[in-house]
Amino acid sequence: MSDVIYFDNNATSQPLPEVVDAMIPVLREGYANPSSVHPFGQAARHNVECARQQVAALIGATPREIVFTSGGTESINLAIRGALRINPSRRHVVTTAVEHPAVLRLTEQLENEGYRVDRVGVDREGRIDEAQWDASLTAETALAALIHANNETGVVFDVEKLASVAADRNVPVHIDAVQSAGKLPIDVTCWPAPLVSLSAHKFHGPKGVGALYVRRRTRLEPLILGGAQERRMRGGTEHVAGIVGMGAACEIARRDGAEVAQRVGELRDVLEKDVLSAVSYAHVNGAGAERIYNTSNISFERLEAEAVLLLLSEAGICASSGAACSSGSLEPSHVIKAMGVEEHIAHGAIRLSLSRFNTREEVDRVVAVLPGLLAKLTALGGARRTSPREET
Ligand code: PLP
Repeated sequence: MSDVIYFDNNATSQPLPEVVDAMIPVLREGYANPSSVHPFGQAARHNVECARQQVAALIGATPREIVFTSGGTESINLAIRGALRINPSRRHVVTTAVEHPAVLRLTEQLENEGYRVDRVGVDREGRIDEAQWDASLTAETALAALIHANNETGVVFDVEKLASVAADRNVPVHIDAVQSAGKLPIDVTCWPAPLVSLSAHKFHGPKGVGALYVRRRTRLEPLILGGAQERRMRGGTEHVAGIVGMGAACEIARRDGAEVAQRVGELRDVLEKDVLSAVSYAHVNGAGAERIYNTSNISFERLEAEAVLLLLSEAGICASSGAACSSGSLEPSHVIKAMGVEEHIAHGAIRLSLSRFNTREEVDRVVAVLPGLLAKLTALGGARRTSPREET
C-alpha cells in the first residue's frame, strides 16, 4: 500500500501510531470490565475515565458531559431520538438539506412517524439560508439538527450563530461535529447547543468509538438499554481499548491541531489551484464558502464521478464521491443537488480529503496524472457506475 495516495480521509483516517500503541496494552492486558470492583476492573475504569477527560478537554466540556458510543451514527441517533422522547408533545424538527445520512435517514423516519421536518436549504456555495433557518424555528420545534463541517464539501456552518437563534426560541440543538472535531478548534461553552456528536476514526482514532457531548442538566432517554454504564445513557460494557484510542487521538489533535491545519490547508489550496489550472472544465464546489482546510469537492464537467474515481483508483489514488445509485441511474449527491449545481457539473463531483499524512509530492502526483486520466475518459465518452454506495 506504500504507493497508494490516500485522499479519502473524510471517509476514515489512518490511526496514529501513538493511538495504536495506547490501545495494544489495553487489548492484551487491560481487558477487565470497568464495572468490576476488583483492582483489575478498576484499572480499566481508570483508563476509561482518563480518556473521558481527554475527549472533554478537546471540546471544552467537563468529563461528566461525555457519553461514549460506538461512533458518530450512534451519537446522532442517541441525541436526536433521546431528546425527542423527552419532549413527546412537540412534533416538529428543523434540520438542513445537507446533513449526513445518519441525520437524513433518521429525520425521514421521523416524518414517517408523523413528525413535521423542515430542511433548511443552502445556496450555490453551500451556505445555509439563515433567514429560512430563523423562520423555521418556532415554539413547536422539539429539536434542531445541524451539521458543522460538511462531509462532502467541507463547508462549515456558523453553528454558534445558528444555535443561538434556536436557543433564543428555547429549541435544543444537536450539532454533528463528526467531520470537524479533532480538526477544527471546538469550545462547546461557546455553542448554545446541548448535544454534539463526535467520532474517533475521522481524526486518526480507531473505528467503532465515538462520543456524545450532553450538556449538564440536559435530559435524554437512552436508546440502548442495559447496565448502568455511561451514567445510564448508554448500556453495554465499554469498548475500553477503543475509548483509550479515542482519548489518545484527542490529546494529539489538541497538541498538533493548529500546525496540521496550517500545513494541510496549504496542501489543499495547492491541489485546488493546480487542478483548476490543469483542467479547464474543473470546478471547486463550495469554494465561495468558509470550508474546513482538508476537503476539496471538485467537479469535472460532463464526466461521471464514478468513472473518474475508477481511473484514479487504478492509478493508486483513493478518493470518493457523494453520489448514490438510485434505481440504476447515477444521482448526484443530495448535498450537491441542494446547492443547485447544474446537472452537467453535479454528476462529475468527487471529494478529495487530505490529512496530516499527505505530502506535497502526493499532491503533485495527483495533479500530474489527472489531466491524462480525464482525457482518456472524455475520449471514451465517460462511463457508468455499477454499484450502489452510501456517503461517509
Ligand atoms: N456525520 C458525518 C458528518 C460524517 O461524515 C459521518 C461519517 O461518515 C458520520 C456522521 C457517521 O460517523 P460514524 O462513521 O462514526 O458512524
